[in-house]
Amino acid sequence: MVLHRRKAFLMDDCAYDIMGREGDPCVYCGQESSGHDHVPPLAYISKLDEETKNHLNLRKFPACRECNSILGDILLKDIRSRRAYVHEKLRSKYASCLRMPAWEENELEELGRNLQDNIRSRSVFASHLRDRLSFHRSKRRK
Ligand SMILES: [Zn+2]
Repeated sequence: MVLHRRKAFLMDDCAYDIMGREGDPCVYCGQESSGHDHVPPLAYISKLDEETKNHLNLRKFPACRECNSILGDILLKDIRSRRAYVHEKLRSKYASCLRMPAWEENELEELGRNLQDNIRSRSVFASHLRDRLSFHRSKRRK
């Protein structure tokens, strides 16, 4: 039974068109992808009959681990709404980091070494996060 289900799962996976390679920018946030996100999700199509499956546009897109795990089996059927969902989740997950005020160098120098390092690394992280959250131009190349 388990084996049968696994085989069906793999057959469904093969029905998807591959829209990019692992290592390409994640279609949701632009950072390096580590796998593919199934659109619509595998768990959704596994419940459909063959006829219905054949009429769906099944594609899998490069995605990073974090975006992929945020999406899980959520039933959003297009990239735009999936990206909006991911961005909303990232915004709330890292809300405190995004709210952190910008520090001037002279302000930082008044703090202890550990606190300075901590604030600097949080600033780098927040800036990287803002880049990810503004990512929505998957087709435009610089
Ligand atoms: Zn991502």
